[in-house]
This record gives sequence, C-alpha cells and structure tokens, in this order.
Amino acid sequence: LNRRLDGFGTTIFAEMSALAAATGSINLGQGFPDTDGPEEVREAAVRALRDGRGNQYPPGPGVPELRQAIAAHQAAFHGLTVDPDREVLVTAGATEAIAAALLALVEPGDEVIALEPYYDSYAAGIAMAGGTRVPVTLRPDGDRFVLDLDELRAAVTGRTRLILLNTPHNPTGTVLSRAELAAIAELAVERDLLVVTDEVYEHLVFDGEHLPLAAFPGMRERTVTISSAGKTFSFTGWKVGWVTGTPELVDAVRTAKQFLTYVSAGPFQYAVAEALRLPAAYFTGLADDLRAKRDLLSAGLAEAGFRVFRPAGTYFVTTDITPLGGTDGFAFCRELPGRAGVVAVPNAVFYDDRAAGAPYVRWAFCKKLDVLAEAVSRLKN
Ligand code: GLN
Repeated sequence: LNRRLDGFGTTIFAEMSALAAATGSINLGQGFPDTDGPEEVREAAVRALRDGRGNQYPPGPGVPELRQAIAAHQAAFHGLTVDPDREVLVTAGATEAIAAALLALVEPGDEVIALEPYYDSYAAGIAMAGGTRVPVTLRPDGDRFVLDLDELRAAVTGRTRLILLNTPHNPTGTVLSRAELAAIAELAVERDLLVVTDEVYEHLVFDGEHLPLAAFPGMRERTVTISSAGKTFSFTGWKVGWVTGTPELVDAVRTAKQFLTYVSAGPFQYAVAEALRLPAAYFTGLADDLRAKRDLLSAGLAEAGFRVFRPAGTYFVTTDITPLGGTDGFAFCRELPGRAGVVAVPNAVFYDDRAAGAPYVRWAFCKKLDVLAEAVSRLKN
C-alpha cells in the first residue's frame, strides 16, 4: 500500500455494517435510509434504462438535463446563479467530488483545514493529494458542538491552501449559522483561501436553516460547492453527486474526475434530474419526517442514560457515553451488538486527537420509527 494510504484500512462504516449483519443487530451505524426514495424517481430510472438514455457513456460533465436541474435547484433554494454548461459537474457521489476537488486543488505539502470530527473520506482525500490535514475541533457547548472561530483563524498559515467545510455537519449535526459562515467567508477572502464545502445534508435541517457558503460576499469565485442525491432523495446506492463553482474551479475538478471515473452512471442522472424537479413539499416533507425520527431517537437515548447533543441537521445524533460510565467509544461500539443488538459508530475515528473523540458515539436515525423504537427499547434494557 502506498504510504499515503497508511492507516486507512477499512472504513468504519463497512466494519460496523458487517458487524450488524453478522450479529443480526439494528444498524444505526452507517448512514443510509431503510426506506428508498420516491417511487416516481425510481420509475424515472427504469424508464431511462428502458429508453436507452444513459446506457452508453454520458457526457463527461454530466447529462445536460441533470446539469440544468442542478442549476435550477441552486437558484430556487439558494438564490445562486450557476451556468449549467460551465459551472456544474456531475460526479460519482459527493465522495468522488471531494476526492477530485482535493486532487485538483491541493499541491503536495499544502495544508487543508478540516472541521474535526471530519467525515472519513476527507482525511483519505487529503492524504491521496499529498496534503497535510489541519483539524479545527468542534467542541461541546451545552447540547451542541460549536466551532471556535478564533481557533479556525489561528489554524491558517502561509501554507494553507483551502478549508474543507461541512455544514450541516456529519457526525455532530451542527448547522453553521449565518454569523459563523460570514466569519469563515471573511477569513477566506482576507487570507485568499479556497473553500471546498460539503453540503450533502443541505435539505436535512430541523432547526434554523442551511445557508450555502458560496452565497456570501467574495465567496462565489473561491468556493467549490458539493452536494449529492444520496441524502436528499434517499438513494445512497445511486452515487450521483455534483460540484458547482466558477468555470475555472469546475474545470480543475473535472480534470481530476475524468481520470477517476471518466463519467458517472447515465440512467441515474436522468432520474436525479427528475428528482430535483420534485415540488417543494417533497423537500420539507423529508425534513419533517426526519425531525420526528431525530426527536424519537434523541429522547430514547437520553432516557437510556446518554448525554445527547441535539443535531440541528443531518441524520445523525452524537451522544456522550460518559454518564453511563464509558470512556472508550470504540470498545463501547464493539460490545454493543452483543449487549443490546444495536450498532453505532465511534466518533473517535473522525478525530486526529482520538482522546478528544473517545467518549462520543454516533447513531443514525434515517430508519423507520418502529425500528428506532425497538433500538431504544433494547438500549434501555
Ligand atoms: N456517509 C455515511 C455515514 O456517514 C456513510 C457513507 C459510507 O459508508 N462511506 O455514515
């Protein structure tokens, strides 16, 4: 294995899903819904396959229908104007978009600032690009994890190339506020930094609102915005993601992307184009459904004795196991299937400073209400 990939092994999600399957446990580890997305969107994929749309290599930047739908979505939901021909790139999920953006924009030795705990692929993507990861840790404050803007400012050096942002934030559920984003934008402009912003949970917000960083003053020309159909439409297996940004930035990402996958699967692109045109009620309905699930699981975890951090967005809730006498989330998650028939993910894997992440455990609530209720009852027992 290339030294850059030393220590990456198997992702925690694969490990924990395998553990859930092997033990017959309820899997609240890996984040994927147990109910597929809208029927009409599935039908659109079937139609595309049957009608021979996308069965051969689609255009490298993505099929025009999807690029137009992405541009229309950015305008309708975020007031962002993007040119579907020059400022949109379709990728194989957000994961490829993140990797391609890092490979395209980071030189060996460049520093990349990432909010910690960070989604696991960030660390691998930075490493593959030869960059150096500089974590800025979100710290518990009351019932949420917060970003210390002074710490972020202090993390910027002459070698900083970009900030890899994520809001709504996996795994903490933190949604960065307007004031926080404005401060990040100011910092990026002042220090002439690029920002790659992972907004895959843009529609999964329960308290407050999601604001895209690209809409802040001075940010349009320095932001690579990433999202994905996986979370918004509950089709995590389709792997359709996208990048929006200036032609220069999108071209750079496309240059890397074309040698990773060349193009992304065709028929699903047509189906996601239809999904993006669903009425506004679909998007609010998704958030309403997940809010109820958040509330059920959060309340249950609190009753079971965990300290619960209230997620304003995403479909994850982070807990502290300290009140239950636990100190090591890893050991806790490895024992939990045997003790309770439930699988969760130890947040420590998302930290450079494993000790800082040790007491935290993440639970996915994108599951049917009765599944969540059963998980809670097992945990209480
Ligand atoms: N993003 C999902 C999570 O955080 C899982 C994705 C994956 O398995 N790589 O759980």
